Amino acid sequence: RRAALAALASLTLSACGQNGEGSSEGSSEGGTVGIAMPTRTSERWLTDGKSVVEALKGKGYKTKLVYGDDDPKAQFSQIEDLIKQGVDALIIAAIDAKSLNGVLQQAADADIPVIAYDRLILGTKNVDYYVSFDNEMVGRLQAHHIIEKFGLEDGKGPFNIELFAGSPDDNNTKYFFKGSMALLQPFLDSKQLVVPSGQTALNQITTLRWDGPTAQKRMSDILTNWYLSKKVDAVLSPYDGISRGVLSALQSDGYGSDSKPLPVITGQDAELDSVKSIIAGEQSQTVYKDVRQLAGAAAEMVDDILSDRTPWVDNRGDYNNGVKVVPAVLLQPKSVDKTNYDVLIAGEYFTADELK
Ligand code: BGC
Repeated sequence: RRAALAALASLTLSACGQNGEGSSEGSSEGGTVGIAMPTRTSERWLTDGKSVVEALKGKGYKTKLVYGDDDPKAQFSQIEDLIKQGVDALIIAAIDAKSLNGVLQQAADADIPVIAYDRLILGTKNVDYYVSFDNEMVGRLQAHHIIEKFGLEDGKGPFNIELFAGSPDDNNTKYFFKGSMALLQPFLDSKQLVVPSGQTALNQITTLRWDGPTAQKRMSDILTNWYLSKKVDAVLSPYDGISRGVLSALQSDGYGSDSKPLPVITGQDAELDSVKSIIAGEQSQTVYKDVRQLAGAAAEMVDDILSDRTPWVDNRGDYNNGVKVVPAVLLQPKSVDKTNYDVLIAGEYFTADELK
């Protein structure tokens, strides 16, 4: 299984559509997998849906793909429908980590295995496996970028920073934040980093449903209330859509000129608009998570389960969902900025033309 997983990256690519063919060896032919994705407003989730479908097709499965449009109740009924339609397995990226308990009991009663995709589902025993990226590492990579940019390890500072976090109902949010703060806290303690708004607790900085305009509004309010005679040097942002909202607020406030340069702004997902913004010198960093690999790992798990093999897991993170520790596979994220964005082209995530 280890060797099989080591070969995952290349397998995933072939299963994901370059040539449309994946290995169907050992697959239980003809099964149908229900895939519940959270939103169509973000590019990454569109790529996820497409990639999971392609990876499963490559293994001989049929698929039913649904998007919950950021509405937990809608996602609940979509999954209920998939169960009624008799799917053989479910791959779910939850909108609200805690709202699926009831419907997952229905899945368990119908003997349908459930894989939590990217986001852990909380508070239920009826989740069999978890496949994601190393979420704490994502937060560390964002913080590391800020630390490097400002030479904080050489004792430089003070610099003004504002902190943004993801959706409070997404289990990943606290892992991203924890990873970032593990690295940033010492510099807050030494006052090399200062947060003029004073908003440093997770519950003060979350962004419901990862919404860009919500982040834009919060950034504008912060600028109005705390920055009349100050300049923002850095913004910790957990997701490209939030980064672009923050960027708009800053640009409306006159940032982006020689006398008032844009702050360092982090991000996540390597979304096309943000990668272009990085190349243009606006957003400063993003975290590249090759969701084709994630899709491949999920498809591999489903295929193992439905073929009566035990899926390989690495269990590197402590993914306790409040009821049980969910066996997990965590893939590696990569920091991308102006100096190395060509990894996205090399990895065929984007073509050179798309990034122009
Ligand atoms: C994902 C991130 C994404 C965010 C917003 C999180 O659960 O892990 O990659 O940026 O949701 O869609």
